Amino acid sequence: MPACLPCAWPVDRVNQTTRGSCSGLSSNGPSHRPGKPPGPARADPRPAPGSDRRLWVTLLATALSGGANVGRVKASPEAQLRLLELADLDAELARLDHRRRSLPEIAQLEQVDARAGELRDGIVMADTELGDLAREQSRAERDVEQVRARIDRDRARLDSGQVGAARELENLQSEVQSLLRRQSDLEEVVLDAMERREAAQGRRDALAAEQDTLGQQSAELTTKRDAALEEIAEQAAKAGTARAAVANDIPPDVLKLYDRLREQQGVGAAALRAGRCEGCHLALNTVDLRQIRAAAPDEIIRCEECRRILVRTPDSGL
Ligand SMILES: [Zn+2]
Repeated sequence: MPACLPCAWPVDRVNQTTRGSCSGLSSNGPSHRPGKPPGPARADPRPAPGSDRRLWVTLLATALSGGANVGRVKASPEAQLRLLELADLDAELARLDHRRRSLPEIAQLEQVDARAGELRDGIVMADTELGDLAREQSRAERDVEQVRARIDRDRARLDSGQVGAARELENLQSEVQSLLRRQSDLEEVVLDAMERREAAQGRRDALAAEQDTLGQQSAELTTKRDAALEEIAEQAAKAGTARAAVANDIPPDVLKLYDRLREQQGVGAAALRAGRCEGCHLALNTVDLRQIRAAAPDEIIRCEECRRILVRTPDSGL
């Protein structure tokens, strides 16, 4: 008598039990799913002698539909409980990773760096302004010196008595008066440049003082951040070591399934407590609970809702 490959059930019994739903049976060989390569062996859904025939039909029908809670990989109940420890450690590692990335010191340092950049730009601008003002002041001072020298020369001529003509004397005196006014104007320019230079220097000094304060803040924040990162790294190393030890107690195919689910869902395994999946927090229906109750202790159960591995515990409510 040929047997169905996925469920290993005799073909005539499959046809009887599922009322012909096993239409994949062909002359080339029995299969529930023609055209698909045979996958790993499914959990054997055959009933234990004397068990309820209706439950067996449910289990078989679910297995045939591919939506069974009961998975194909197996692990001892102890190894399954280790999955919960693994999930706790992975949650701890994820929490540490989140803490590492969201340390307040990191955001504060970014603000300090941004302000330090503004200060650097401000100081460059202040230095440029100070240079311009220094040149303006020097130019005005040179002009004052030239005018003063000319006044001295004119006065020397006036005092020497060499200028005899009244007209020439008058012109020279007039020029001295004019030069004195020009000197006064130029001295005003010098004073104005000095005042603006002083104000610019004050602004530059304030920026430099803030830069110093910011440098101290940056050093303190860096120290705090590095200390926090070191503490997180120590905790992560401990959790990583513990995780490796726990993972060692879990069959490789179960671990692979768990890791794949964790990548997809964030959490790979959850406890079944009081008839509720602690992964998605949904209560299982009576059909699912009946299937789980009937499943062998080493079967890997999956939550119908979130597809996480559902680990049975003493308070699962089964
Ligand atoms: Zn769930």
